[in-house]
Amino acid sequence: MTHVVTEACWECKDTECVEVCPVDCFHEDKVMLYIDPDECIDCGACIPVCPVSAIYYEDDVPADQQKWIELNAEKAPDLPVIDEKKEPYGKKC
Ligand code: SF4
Ligand code: SF4
Repeated sequence: MTHVVTEACWECKDTECVEVCPVDCFHEDKVMLYIDPDECIDCGACIPVCPVSAIYYEDDVPADQQKWIELNAEKAPDLPVIDEKKEPYGKKC
């Protein structure tokens, strides 16, 4: 199992989540963050700090957000790790 970043993170990048992740498994592209399922240890620390509730335990991902399970797994490994908080885009958060 893993945790999954879903659509609510899009253009937010508040990045509170990366500060609490003990294994630095968040990766970023230009618009949002993704969790590498091979690195996530399912600690759950990132869920309560996300201001837009974008992160779910894999089994709890809502039906209309299921595509993000595969998208996180596909995208995260090829993207750079983000392990320090950045200025948010400010569009949504
Ligand atoms: S805290 Fe939530 S919205 Fe912000 S970057 Fe992390 S997953 Fe995305
Ligand atoms: S559940 Fe834990 S290990 Fe997985 S992404 Fe969140 S903070 Fe990192």
